[in-house]
Amino acid sequence: MGSVPGEIARPTQLPERCDLAIVGGGIVGLAVARELIGRNPRASVCVLEREAEIASHQTAHNSGVIHAGVYYEPGSLKARLCVEGARELYAYCEQRGIAHERCGKVIVATDPAELRRLDELERRGQANGVPGLRRIDATELQRIEPHARGIAALHSPNTGIVDFAAVARAYAHDVLATGATIATGCGVHSVRAAGRCLQLGHARGVTEAAHAVFCAGGWADRLAVAAGASPDPRIVPFRGAYLRLVPTRTHLVRSLIYPVPDPSLPFLGVHLTKHIDGDVLIGPTALMAGARDAYRLGTIRRRDVLDTLAWPGTWRMLARWWSTGVVELRHAALRSAFVRAAARYVPELRPGDVQPAFAGVRAQALARDGKLVDDFVFSHTQRALHVRNAPSPAATSSLAIARHVVDEAERAFALSP
Ligand SMILES: Cc1cc2nc3c(=O)[nH]c(=O)nc-3n(C[C@H](O)[C@H](O)[C@H](O)COP(=O)(O)OP(=O)(O)OC[C@H]3O[C@@H](n4cnc5c(N)ncnc54)[C@H](O)[C@@H]3O)c2cc1C
Repeated sequence: MGSVPGEIARPTQLPERCDLAIVGGGIVGLAVARELIGRNPRASVCVLEREAEIASHQTAHNSGVIHAGVYYEPGSLKARLCVEGARELYAYCEQRGIAHERCGKVIVATDPAELRRLDELERRGQANGVPGLRRIDATELQRIEPHARGIAALHSPNTGIVDFAAVARAYAHDVLATGATIATGCGVHSVRAAGRCLQLGHARGVTEAAHAVFCAGGWADRLAVAAGASPDPRIVPFRGAYLRLVPTRTHLVRSLIYPVPDPSLPFLGVHLTKHIDGDVLIGPTALMAGARDAYRLGTIRRRDVLDTLAWPGTWRMLARWWSTGVVELRHAALRSAFVRAAARYVPELRPGDVQPAFAGVRAQALARDGKLVDDFVFSHTQRALHVRNAPSPAATSSLAIARHVVDEAERAFALSP
């Protein structure tokens, strides 16, 4: 696994009432809790987290990359919140002494057919205000990454690495330091609007909250529907498995080496990433999973499978992307094929250079029409705000997302400090 989730003391007594409840103790929920408290210091705030520990899901199972904002459509929420969020995250890590490194990244074209897409990425990155982004040639690529090969590349010196679970733990400590509650082992299963409050039914009873923000990652759609929102989009889980370079071969990658992605998919392709703990990872795959917590390939949950199969968008997506699915299946099943995909950029890589690492599960929102929803999505129901799609780079963007969500909440609920 990438990093150790956060152990937070479980309060013996849960408040029966609070002003603001946050459902989900991942990096987004904890950032939102922190921001809400910062703007409403007199409000009582309670985070309800289903697992025994905070940050157990996507926050602790990812590439650990602080994205600079290159990829995203100018004007999108992702473009704005990633660039702002990365800047704020670096400052936060500095201030809190959280290990991180601004190691830079290259996006490598190996084929002339990819050059137009590289142009488009450069255009987007410049439009988004990504600091220091520039085009480099094959010689400069080799100076930055001596074992990488390509015909051209983009260099983003402001991309970096961090352990996002460590960041989430720091947010949690900020929250707890104000006297707010973080209740673990507290999965919310029902949401009922009752007069001037919401009744949140959970594993440890009922908490009444004047308002709530739902940040439930892979389970966001279920809670939104429970609160009366539209079932569109649905979360479909995509498993992303990683390999790790054996210690004698980690010198093949100095920092972060990425392919030129397919612009019509919200995934960045198989990349090679140095981790803050010194490991070098290759991955992730992107395979539809049999459970929203399918950290092991064999984990299958009946309800998750039925939800995926019953969603019209699933079949429309499969009709469009079946050939990409076949490639992903090959990568997941055959380590040699997976390594070959990465060897396009680092030709010295051999199947014997890797060992299995961990897997993450992407909470990917899928629209009824079969579109993989790319941008961050937020919506509201009575007294509640829902984070419906917060895939990568939401960990990078967490502080900026929190600001955006709390701005929305202030507008929707007329919250005032
Ligand atoms: C393979 C992979 C690689 C990635 N790489 C990067 C990267 O390099 N950089 C980057 O910025 N982003 C990356 N991401 C994306 C990033 O990890 C996520 O966007 C981010 O962690 C989302 O945070 P979250 O808090 O919304 O979700 P999560 O971390 O999944 O947290 C959701 C929380 O809600 C809780 N919950 C769910 N249901 C309930 C319930 N009913 N009641 C109470 N609690 C509940 C869960 O237990 C969980 O703790 C990656 C993601 C994956 C999967």
